[in-house]
Amino acid sequence: MNASTQQDRIGSTPMTDMRSFQPKMTIDGRQVSSPKMLDVIDPATGESFVKVPDCTRSQLVDAVSAAEKAFHSWAEVPYEQRRNQVNAFIDRIAADADAFAPLITQEQGKPLAKARSEINSGVFFGRGYTAIDLESVVLRDTPQQRVEVRRRPLGVVGAITAWNYPLMLAMWKVVPAVLTGNTVVLKPSPYTPVATLKLGMLAQEIFPPGVVSVISGGNELGAWMTEHPGIRKIAFTGSGATGKRIMASAAGNLKRLTLELGGNDAGIVLDDADPAKIASDLFWAKFSNCGQVCASLKRLFVHQRIYAAVCDELVKVARTVKIGPGTQDGVDIGPIQNRAQYDLVRRMVDEAVAGGAQVLYRSAIPPGPGLFLPITLLTHVTPAMRVVKEEVFGPVLSVTPFDDENEALRQANDTEYGLGGSVWSGSDERAANLAARLESGGAWVNQHPAMGAEIPFGGVKGSGIGVELGRPGLEEYTSIQVLNIKRAV
Ligand code: NAD
Repeated sequence: MNASTQQDRIGSTPMTDMRSFQPKMTIDGRQVSSPKMLDVIDPATGESFVKVPDCTRSQLVDAVSAAEKAFHSWAEVPYEQRRNQVNAFIDRIAADADAFAPLITQEQGKPLAKARSEINSGVFFGRGYTAIDLESVVLRDTPQQRVEVRRRPLGVVGAITAWNYPLMLAMWKVVPAVLTGNTVVLKPSPYTPVATLKLGMLAQEIFPPGVVSVISGGNELGAWMTEHPGIRKIAFTGSGATGKRIMASAAGNLKRLTLELGGNDAGIVLDDADPAKIASDLFWAKFSNCGQVCASLKRLFVHQRIYAAVCDELVKVARTVKIGPGTQDGVDIGPIQNRAQYDLVRRMVDEAVAGGAQVLYRSAIPPGPGLFLPITLLTHVTPAMRVVKEEVFGPVLSVTPFDDENEALRQANDTEYGLGGSVWSGSDERAANLAARLESGGAWVNQHPAMGAEIPFGGVKGSGIGVELGRPGLEEYTSIQVLNIKRAV
């Protein structure tokens, strides 16, 4: 998640020449194609720019078998040695940033500078994991007895990711999985498989065959993974609806689950906040990555006293922002990643406006076939509108005034989700008191979202189960073993 409020400026860069890079799946250390192929669409042009393998069920079975076989020896490798190899892998990804960035831009749509930030984030969070030691905890140590809580790997991890941060989400899963001694079979979103397939190919330079496999395919492939009895854990990032399907399917062999799902985060701006000072941070809290961030600000509540000033300042920031193809000079926001999402966001805005919402600001968009949506600021929304009730994964923010902060808090918590939330104020203490009452995994003051390598990230309620990042995130790739020794006398 790039919470950066800085918008980097870059020069024009040509599209990736896909003749020099043919994405392949990696199964048992080998690069393989498939009898069927899938088109990958560049959202800035609406055209297919490359085909990737559509993994068959028997190829998935092969990938899991290879991962199971590799697990037995990989789990025995001492932690320190695994850590060195994982660090070498992270270095390898960082060294290829110039090749990764245009791939991410072409498949995902984000500006090149933001693609680079995504790679940097993947590297940064990866290194954060490798800095952690998972030592045993000694509970008793007496002349008669020693009791130790140890951490053991689970086996084969099935990792399934979304399309908003393809490379970073892959790193969030591969690194903790293999560091703790598991092997991993990773499936990226069918919308954005290219950079992740490349990651899988590079991983073979570092890890033994079967430790990291990457397969590409549609939603059905994900469902096959969640049913497969050889997979011991599913690490998932995606929508709530898919998360629920995964949970049901994973019951078959009681798979462990980490589910990082959607959010409908609220921000509450108190009457002592300085509108001009916070406007840029508020704006980018929503519009980073074209609003396609799970933990972005999705509903903004502003105290009546400064409501008009905050609206004015948000519009001022919005007017400075350039929308266009991610490869173009000076572009801040690219297209929406896929057609279904584009249609959904448009429909939600149209319905809101038809229901009485007012457009405070709507930006221009470039002409042509790309999936560009305008920056849209809405007022006069109601709780029943889908733009308020549901997660809007696109460049749309609703701004609603309030008089009573307890009422603002009630509305903020009035959602099935609970990923993050923020309170903005001139007083940290006042804001923190209110933020602590948000029903969310992340409660942020004067920022949104706020993340760090050692800081666990995850949601409550409909936003998921478990966390990623930090020690708690790493521990989710392990099970506890209690080694209880009655000493021989
Ligand atoms: P999605 O649920 O449609 O797809 C995510 C992945 O699941 C894809 O790889 C897809 O192929 C796979 N999949 C689909 N059906 C499956 C099934 N039945 N079984 C197994 N796998 C299946 O989500 P998306 O549209 O790619 O991503 C957008 C969503 O992801 C948003 O809701 C967003 O908030 C959420 N997200 C959450 C986080 C987080 O950390 N909480 C981060 C990024 C995105």
